Amino acid sequence: MRHQTLERVQYIFLFVLLIALAGIGLIAARTAGLGLPDAAGFRPQGVVGAAWDRQIAFISGHAGNDSGAICEDDDGNVLLTEADINARVAELASERLQRAGANVVILEEYDGRLRGLQADVLLSIHADSCIEATGYKAAVHQDSLIPVTNEELLSCIDTVYPEITGLPHHPNTVTHNMTEYHAFRRIDPQTPAAIIELGFLGGDQAMLVEQPELIAKGVVDSLLCFLEKHTKR
Ligand SMILES: [Zn+2]
Repeated sequence: MRHQTLERVQYIFLFVLLIALAGIGLIAARTAGLGLPDAAGFRPQGVVGAAWDRQIAFISGHAGNDSGAICEDDDGNVLLTEADINARVAELASERLQRAGANVVILEEYDGRLRGLQADVLLSIHADSCIEATGYKAAVHQDSLIPVTNEELLSCIDTVYPEITGLPHHPNTVTHNMTEYHAFRRIDPQTPAAIIELGFLGGDQAMLVEQPELIAKGVVDSLLCFLEKHTKR
């Protein structure tokens, strides 16, 4: 009788051990970035040393304020808003960066938390108007106190984002609104920050609407490039 009980306890221990091992295996696989690919066919983001425990802030462009650029049909019905595109990309990019090990916060356009914001990097996510143009562009504060750091950030975006998305640089439309972007003046002056226009709601609509995962990967890999260059704040 006693022997049987002992055997049962052994079986239970073995069972618990197997479950624990399976759990450890799953966590290890997740950390290594193994797993089922997402809708865009990308393997899940794995942990990145340079991203570990870093503070990343996104502004979901126009959130809490207005719709931003819009596409309308001939009757004036709104078909697509920039704010929706920005929010989707901010969400997907945030998920990827969290899997990389970073702490991510998504802010509204005029979020109160922008005042004095301290982070390893801030990126404001916008998209361009509903015209038949194609391409992305990014800008940093023209009067920044950390111009070298911000140029590194911009250079990472200008190298990595077009490489991942295939979108061309569309520099002729970088406006005063971008280099004098309101958030640049609100955040802590030591926080690296940039604003990106992901593409045009018109000419790049198919990619913005149907491949937000690809756009988000372009954003995330751009920021990872910067974090790898700037390991300490
Ligand atoms: Zn915008």
